[in-house]
Amino acid sequence: MDAPVLRQREKLAGHIIKNLAKRKMAGSFVPTAQEARAEVLRLIGLAGSGAGPARVIRCGSESVGGLGLWADIAALPGVTLMDPYAPGLTREQGAELRRQGLLADILVASSNAITLDGRLVNLDGTGNRVAGMTFGPRKVILLVGMNKVAADVEGAMGRVRAIAAPANNMRLAEAYGLKNPCLEDGRCHQCASETRICNVWSIIEGSAVRDRIHVVLVGEDLGY
Ligand code: SF4
Repeated sequence: MDAPVLRQREKLAGHIIKNLAKRKMAGSFVPTAQEARAEVLRLIGLAGSGAGPARVIRCGSESVGGLGLWADIAALPGVTLMDPYAPGLTREQGAELRRQGLLADILVASSNAITLDGRLVNLDGTGNRVAGMTFGPRKVILLVGMNKVAADVEGAMGRVRAIAAPANNMRLAEAYGLKNPCLEDGRCHQCASETRICNVWSIIEGSAVRDRIHVVLVGEDLGY
C-alpha cells in the first residue's frame, strides 16, 4: 500500500477509535494483515487468560478466514474453536453449533461496515453473528479492514448492499444453491427471493459493557 494512503488510513482509524471509546467499545489499529493476525491472537489470549479453557465461536468472515486465522485460533493453547464450517458436519449440526455459539466465551468475526463516528453496521442471513455480537459471548473481537469505513449509517448500509451482500452471494451460491437476482448482474435488488441471504440488519450504537467489543482496524483492505 502507498505510504500516503496508509498514513491517511492510520489518522482516520485514530479518529474512529476515539469515537468507539465514546460508545464504550475498544479499538486498535495495525497497518498490515499479518499484524492483524497477531493482534487478534493477542486479544484472544488476554480475554481467555485465567478463566479456564476459552471457547471461541467461528462466524462467517472472509476477513478472518482469508488470513488463515481459524487454524491459528484452533491451535492456541487453552482454546476450543467451535467451528460450524468444519468438514463433515451436517447442516443441522452446523446450525446447532451456531446456537451453542451464543454462549461461547469469545466471538471472532468482521463487521460489514463501520462509520466514522464508530457505529457497526451488519447484515446477516441467519442472524447468529449479529446476535452474538449483541449479547452472549463475553468478548467480541472484530477484524475490520479500512476499506469498510463509511461516512455514516446510510453510507454503511449502501456499502453493504452494493458490495458485501452481492459478493457474499457469489461466495455462497454453489454451496447453498442460491438463486438470487444479484447473482445475475452483481447488483442488490432488495429481493424477496426464497434463497435471499440478507435477512437481519444490525446497527450497534454502543456497548453496555465497556470494552466487551474490540475492533481491530487494519490499514490494508480485508474482506468485502
Ligand atoms: S437482498 Fe437479494 S438481491 Fe440483494 S444482495 Fe441480498 S440476496 Fe441479493
